[in-house]
Amino acid sequence: MDSPLVQLLCRTDLEGHILSHDDIRRWPAAECKAIFALGILQRIEDAEFVTCEVCPDAPYAEVVLDIGPGPRAHCDGCGLRKISAERLHQWRVDFEALGGLLRKHLDLLGKPSTLVPGRIWLLGRRQVVGRMVEFFLVQGIAWPDSIESLNQAARLLSSPAPILVVPHGLPTQREWLESGRAFLRLTEWACLREDRIEVSFDEFVDLHAQTAQAFERPLQPTPVADRPARLKQFCEDHKCTMRQFCEWAQVDAADLNRWKQGNSSVPDGGAPATRIERLLQLGERR
Ligand SMILES: [Zn+2]
Repeated sequence: MDSPLVQLLCRTDLEGHILSHDDIRRWPAAECKAIFALGILQRIEDAEFVTCEVCPDAPYAEVVLDIGPGPRAHCDGCGLRKISAERLHQWRVDFEALGGLLRKHLDLLGKPSTLVPGRIWLLGRRQVVGRMVEFFLVQGIAWPDSIESLNQAARLLSSPAPILVVPHGLPTQREWLESGRAFLRLTEWACLREDRIEVSFDEFVDLHAQTAQAFERPLQPTPVADRPARLKQFCEDHKCTMRQFCEWAQVDAADLNRWKQGNSSVPDGGAPATRIERLLQLGERR
């Protein structure tokens, strides 16, 4: 059986995930205590249905709170029975708290922020093999609407070869695999050690370095004659406006225009042109 930490991380891949008392009651006591001590489990509203302890194969039993003291559960198989109040407790993983733990463990710098509420967080940055790399935490990377979340996260879109921390599931859509992004899957690289979450980061780094190197091959400038059409195509493909393009590439509209015309004030290889090319050539770079 998977460790409690792995069970919990996998569970967060479900939309609106919940951990019930039944989920955690089989966890070894020491690990259960350690996980609660991490502060990543947030208590949510009590359960309205529980499994029956007498006939576990029966459909879920409805919780009844208005008969006498203490909760009861009504089971189709065995009727109304008293249950302990703690069986109603439920939790969810608090991603902001998880992000805080990772930030601390990985010694990340900079100010963390929420980029897309409930979905994408900037955790911070640090040097990784001579490069400054940004770290993001993503929930629901394989959910059907994950590309919409990605497109709302300008900071992530414009981050060269960042590290994306995901609980377990990996992206299924190719847009996520662009820009030299590397995926740090917690079920693979993290474990509980001495009551802390520990990430085997040094081992992960080797893998990340290969992705980043492939990404950092020099960009081939788009021929000037092709630039207007390429920009238009990009906006169509990503359902975005020119204004959003400027925001993602972190250039102003005037610079984008000069680049489009091949004006020497926005030279190829310079920072603004590189950011524009990097964004335009997203899909071609793996
Ligand atoms: Zn029953």
